[in-house]
Amino acid sequence: MLTADEKQRYGRQIILNGWGEEGQEKLKRSTVFIAGAGGLGSPVAIYLAAAGVGQLRICDSGTPELSNLNRQVLHSDADIGRNKALSARETIARINPLVTVEPLEEHIVKENVARLVDNADIIVDCMDNFSTRHILNEYAFLKGLPFIHAGVTGMSGQITFIHTPETPCLFCFVPKSTPSAIFPIIGATAGVIGTLEALEALKYLTGKGTLLKNRMLFWDGELMQFHEVPLQNDPHCKVCGKP
Ligand SMILES: [Zn+2]
Repeated sequence: MLTADEKQRYGRQIILNGWGEEGQEKLKRSTVFIAGAGGLGSPVAIYLAAAGVGQLRICDSGTPELSNLNRQVLHSDADIGRNKALSARETIARINPLVTVEPLEEHIVKENVARLVDNADIIVDCMDNFSTRHILNEYAFLKGLPFIHAGVTGMSGQITFIHTPETPCLFCFVPKSTPSAIFPIIGATAGVIGTLEALEALKYLTGKGTLLKNRMLFWDGELMQFHEVPLQNDPHCKVCGKP
């Protein structure tokens, strides 16, 4: 049940057709695993918290550096040198104290992914490298969990909603892990794509709207254009293909 304060705080989304108090209660009971508290993780965590998702498991082993602050809006100057997940918890507490944040100060590896994701209803990819994404993708597939994939660079980005076997898994269309490198990124780009990820997570959790399944949405910020391409299962995929 929602309290009187919650009905007021979330009033403008509760009146959305197909959302209602029922949708809001679903959010309150939900747990989201946010993999990374950087450029994408910042808008994802902020918008999910503001919308009233009850539990956020925010995972990041890193510490904010001065060169992160153009896009990682969960953190500020005073947070430099601290852990990002802990810094995120403080920021979220200021935005919405009703949300429980579980800060996870760990690097995601095969050995700990099950413990880190724990009871989450959905995994949101806010990573900057494909090797960790593949660990999350494989775990999501094994557990039948939805996995929102996104990536950004410069003034462009991509996003898709993965829920295998209904959709291809990440490995079906990105079978390689490119080595991580320093890439250009405008903060607003991470804001656009991260906000879309947050919206997809809210849609999944409330049951409102049509999810971005079986298609990759690309955004080109220089031309200010969206376009999408259909995605298909790879029957020989080493993660989700039939042996
Ligand atoms: Zn696959």
